[in-house]
Amino acid sequence: MEKKKSKKTKGLKSENQVINLNSVKFEEEVKICPLCGKPYTGWGNNPSPLEMDMVCDECNLNVIIPLRFGIDITSIQKNEEI
Ligand SMILES: [Zn+2]
Repeated sequence: MEKKKSKKTKGLKSENQVINLNSVKFEEEVKICPLCGKPYTGWGNNPSPLEMDMVCDECNLNVIIPLRFGIDITSIQKNEEI
């Protein structure tokens, strides 16, 4: 009396989803910079003292680092020609 209706269980099995770390390319993970909105790769930069996600290298150099030196961002944006 064997019923061949075992299709319902198909897909419910938890396969061994072994993640091969060697195949994961961390460097190529694209993230969006919350400051400039541009995509960047890599780990990003800690935006402290700003409270947001990691920012790109460009914003880190142009915004975050000056901020840490006590420079007002708004003054930088107004004088981009310098
Ligand atoms: Zn950015």
